[in-house]
Amino acid sequence: MRVLLLATTTGYQTRAFGEAAERLGVDLVFATDRCDMLDDPWHDAALAIRFYDEAASVATILDAAKRSPIDAVVAVGDRPTVIAARVMKALGLPGHPRSAAAVARNKQATREHLKAAGLPTPAFIDGSPQDDPGHFETVGFPMVVKPLALSGSRGVIRVDDRKELAGALERIGQILAAADIQAERHQAHKLVLCEQFIEGREFAVEGLMNRGILDVLAIFDKPDPLNGPFFEETLYVTPSDAPADTRAAIVRTIADSAKALGLYHGPIHAECRVNSRGVFVLEVAARPIGGLCARALRFVRREPAGAAHTAGSPQSQNSTTAEISFEELLLRHALGEESTGWQREAMGSGVMMIPIPKRGIYRGASGIDDARAVPGIVDVRLTAKLDQLLVPLPEGASYLGFIFARGSRAMDVELALRTAHARLAFTIAPEMRVLQSTHG
Ligand code: ADP
Ligand code: CA
Repeated sequence: MRVLLLATTTGYQTRAFGEAAERLGVDLVFATDRCDMLDDPWHDAALAIRFYDEAASVATILDAAKRSPIDAVVAVGDRPTVIAARVMKALGLPGHPRSAAAVARNKQATREHLKAAGLPTPAFIDGSPQDDPGHFETVGFPMVVKPLALSGSRGVIRVDDRKELAGALERIGQILAAADIQAERHQAHKLVLCEQFIEGREFAVEGLMNRGILDVLAIFDKPDPLNGPFFEETLYVTPSDAPADTRAAIVRTIADSAKALGLYHGPIHAECRVNSRGVFVLEVAARPIGGLCARALRFVRREPAGAAHTAGSPQSQNSTTAEISFEELLLRHALGEESTGWQREAMGSGVMMIPIPKRGIYRGASGIDDARAVPGIVDVRLTAKLDQLLVPLPEGASYLGFIFARGSRAMDVELALRTAHARLAFTIAPEMRVLQSTHG
């Protein structure tokens, strides 16, 4: 069996899929538009494509598939989801339809589909960042202004009055003009969406769709208050400690939303806010949770309903030792296995995406061993490169690194993550003028 992995990915994720493929005895072929990724472990097989050129990318992949057949496709990250959908259709593999993947990537199209399906939706209006701020004011303050097709909260800004709105539009206009975004050549990168600010607790949902039916793998609490003006992701902790009826409402609404967007088969990553008026879906992406965060998820065989479960029996031992990674579950699912045979491990688990505290040159971190020594901490991974220019939100697009924790209760996990984070200290030097003028 050969699985095509479409990704703009980190070394970690590539390795995790490589290990999972090895365990399963399947071959991986990697397609990416990052030239600097071509030294990946499967160098020989890597296909160089351009995500912005969908038709050519699809043709390159289908051509390669004629020479050595592709049995399954996994897309990671927002950008290749539409290409993946087209390839799956052409190869006769079940997946998300191309139109659904395209809608899921576009925040305005997503809003329109959710509204048409009668799902809770804030007032929203789209426009150009160059439009007169008055154009957007019908939405009412407070509102959130955001680019139509970026991710990781990049360019997402809460504004409380007309002056802040004008400032945010200008700032987002500059973000959208940045070289890395222009290079994506995506139509939606010219536009912004303004929507009512939705109060409430925020959750993220990881799921796999099995031919139209959503199987929720995890509901994550986002226990940090996210009131803006910028929205750093920071903490993800599962299982959620929300009441059972809230969790049920989240699952129901995400399932309805995925259906409203037309998503059908494959991974989804959704976010929602819950308040007294209901569950407001922010987005349902046609892809799994990004990069290193996937490490927070481990899976075990689901005990068949009603199966006798005696502690210490060979069966229950099997089910606890045969733990698999999320990447392995994604490969199994892509190869035709139903996700419902698996469930997340019983332990609580969480990840902190370490936010960039200020703009400047990264000179290093201290306290890493102390942070690792906090009970419950599984790993501390700093991903920022020495001497790299760090840019915080809303312009920035990454984190300093990740902290992983596990524990018997979600609140222990959260505490471990916060304690470990507090033990870390980062040295960030002022940016030099010469860099300022070249990197603007
Ligand atoms: P991205 O795709 O960059 O993650 P989102 O639309 O998901 O963009 O917004 C990022 C974050 O900003 C959300 O997780 C949420 O915390 C906040 N946010 C976005 N839209 C709203 C809104 N209408 N009301 C309240 N918070 C919002
Ligand atoms: Ca989001």
